[in-house]
Amino acid sequence: MQILIVEDELALSNAIKKLLEQRGYFADAVYDGDSAVDYATSVNYSLIILDVMLPKRDGFEVVRALRREGVHTPILMLTARTATADKVQGLNCGADDYLTKPFDTDELLARVGALTRRTGEVLVDTVRFEDLTLELGSAKLLCGDDSVQLSRKEFAVLKTFLYNPTMTIATDTLIANAWGIDSEATDNNVEVYISFLRKKLKYLGSRVSIRKLQRIGYRLEVGEC
Ligand code: CA
Repeated sequence: MQILIVEDELALSNAIKKLLEQRGYFADAVYDGDSAVDYATSVNYSLIILDVMLPKRDGFEVVRALRREGVHTPILMLTARTATADKVQGLNCGADDYLTKPFDTDELLARVGALTRRTGEVLVDTVRFEDLTLELGSAKLLCGDDSVQLSRKEFAVLKTFLYNPTMTIATDTLIANAWGIDSEATDNNVEVYISFLRKKLKYLGSRVSIRKLQRIGYRLEVGEC
């Protein structure tokens, strides 16, 4: 179950992400309205947790943009405001539920549980590149008839590559996606997880490998059959 968190308060975003991951959800975090629309229109999330007050475009505009684009993912809006007018506006523009900050974690988890059940079926969403298929719901990496289970960090790192298969990914980007943007993870942590992933790619016999570009980052490379 993959959830998108859109919240510009870092501490709160990190706390929600950690809470969801402890409960077995996979969570991506973005910090402004434009990124929210980009992510939510390219990945099939089970739920979007969306703050109202955001940089670039606010939560209401994000909901309207997504519904206009045909994205029907359930949306739980978060806001510090308590005015009823806001709640009505949020629900009118296409959000499914509303939670006023500050909220307690049980309340959040109850709403998340209710909204993700509402989608009815478990969607196995996948990202494919060359001979690799990554299952987003289970963090399983498949190649031909073989598959391996990825750890949470391996999954976050590899997903970043597979979403941007032709790009060189800066080490900082990998740290932000897998460890969080205010983490103390270093290049060495990334290097360790890249080496785990290389072993798994080798085990699967994939043509895809991860190449290091000194002082720049990493990119995927596709070898000969
Ligand atoms: Ca905010």
